[in-house]
Amino acid sequence: MTQDFYKQLIDSLYDGVYFVDANRTITYWNRGAERITGYSAAMLVGHGCADNLLMHTDQEGTQLCLHGCPLASTIKDGIPREAEIFLHHKDGHRVPVSIRIAPMHDESGNIIGAVEIFSDSSDKCKILNELRELKHIALIDTLTGLGNRRFASLEFERMIMALRRYQVPFGLLFVDIDNFKDVNDTFGHEIGDQILVMVGKTLTNALRRPDRVSRWGGEEFVVLVPGVDGAMFRTVAERMRRLVAASALPVQGTESMLRVTVSVGGSLAVDNDTLESLAARADAMMYRSKDAGRNCTTLDCS
Ligand code: GH3
Ligand code: MG
Ligand code: MG
Repeated sequence: MTQDFYKQLIDSLYDGVYFVDANRTITYWNRGAERITGYSAAMLVGHGCADNLLMHTDQEGTQLCLHGCPLASTIKDGIPREAEIFLHHKDGHRVPVSIRIAPMHDESGNIIGAVEIFSDSSDKCKILNELRELKHIALIDTLTGLGNRRFASLEFERMIMALRRYQVPFGLLFVDIDNFKDVNDTFGHEIGDQILVMVGKTLTNALRRPDRVSRWGGEEFVVLVPGVDGAMFRTVAERMRRLVAASALPVQGTESMLRVTVSVGGSLAVDNDTLESLAARADAMMYRSKDAGRNCTTLDCS
């Protein structure tokens, strides 16, 4: 691998990374470090970290460059260090960072410098992470890990826009597990839950990349299928139905495998659909599949 490769690799990290040689001169400063501190590599490479441009301070405001620089300590004793400190941003404010320092050795094992890796631990980051987490909680069904109804609603909005603006067709499939109450009654609710997880995974694996599957509620799933005509829509629906029928859950403590089937109903969206109107048509088609004996697909477009 060339040096360029490693430079590119380190530059693509989100964290800040820099090297100092044994004299604590900065010899490398990656993009992450530029982003977190506002200082470009051109401004810092060649400077001593002891020049105090970065003005590392601890939580109490003690200047670490002057009193107990962790980089200097690691270069001296070869022991890696971690700390929560504050850096100076080029625009003047302080930035809280978690730092990790490790010694660098040459081929004979002599310490030739140290690498410091630092990540922004400011509230901004924490808030973004919390938002990401909340979004996850708000949109994911905890049992199956699939999207929930709210997720289906957001994806529907995206697809109906594409239909209205660019005439990209899409369909909605309503998938209901057959005689699921019997599964619960015979094997217990826990096995019922495992079946829901199994069906959810099979549905996900049966889909193409742009398709979106969500748990609508109970033992019902909704699948949004963009970019299909009637024939392709049927192909997707039938593939899902057959793959569910071919799935089998090993029942603990027994030799037996538990299988379920699904009844599928589907409808292609029209311009003035809402999620409710489209889902209601697909649901009505699903009931025709139930009436026809279950484990089959009914679409209103073919
Ligand atoms: P059909 O073929 O007509 O759809 O029959 P069905 O038994 O599947 O339909 P029904 O609506 O009578 O029963 C659905 C069952 O799904 C009843 C309910 O106890 C079960 N169920 C709903 N949510 C969950 C869940 O989260 N876990 C488990 N284990 N069962 C659930
Ligand atoms: Mg049902
Ligand atoms: Mg059912």
